[in-house]
Amino acid sequence: MKEITLINNSFAYGGFTSGNEGIWTRNEPFDPPTCDYISLSGRLGIPLTNIVRPYQAGGDKTEIVCAEHGGSGVIKDNELKKVDGLITAEKGLVLSIIAADCVPVYLADESAGVIGLLHCGWRSAAGFIVHNAVAKMQWLGASPEKIHVIIGPHICSGCYEVGEEVRRSFADNFTENELEALFAYREKSLYLDLSRTIRLKAMKEHIPVENISASQECTFHDTDFYSYRRGDRGRQDLAFIMMK
Ligand SMILES: [Zn+2]
Repeated sequence: MKEITLINNSFAYGGFTSGNEGIWTRNEPFDPPTCDYISLSGRLGIPLTNIVRPYQAGGDKTEIVCAEHGGSGVIKDNELKKVDGLITAEKGLVLSIIAADCVPVYLADESAGVIGLLHCGWRSAAGFIVHNAVAKMQWLGASPEKIHVIIGPHICSGCYEVGEEVRRSFADNFTENELEALFAYREKSLYLDLSRTIRLKAMKEHIPVENISASQECTFHDTDFYSYRRGDRGRQDLAFIMMK
């Protein structure tokens, strides 16, 4: 198991873990929690009833969650369907998402007492998930200039080869200069920088550049993490964040 801490201060704690088996999803909505969630609950000292996991769909939808959502997707059926971002103002509620190469994005506004966690594949990163999350955080009292963004471990720009259709799709949302910065050709192959994509999206939401940081860990070339591109199926890494 590899587990790293991305935020740990008086306000919030957040990390990224492969778990022991990388199994976070259950086959049926009412199956018991997975061993990895039980283990995480023990490490955090937080009951399973305080952990939330949405049913992700690689889209733009985000939801504000509170205590009543606790345990969703972990110990009980999940009403958070096709949701790729969670926002909360509730202390002790653990937001979690699963990812195996996609980008986990951690959001925190300490002065407003609001956090968020996003699952961003290339479609979400190029789309509106960051915008939607910031809007929901503002609804809870957060201000873009006070939001801190941590871009978690994901497939790095040196490993993430994509097809031309990805660049064409990005052209709807980015200028030609931006596309030049986000994509690179190496030996006739095209590579995408997801980290820079998220950074650019956050800056467009008026989050100060000095508030944005990124992990250098890569899920693809670090074999301690699970990676879809490397062939892992059904096993994923887990990102989590909670307010203390
Ligand atoms: Zn890499």
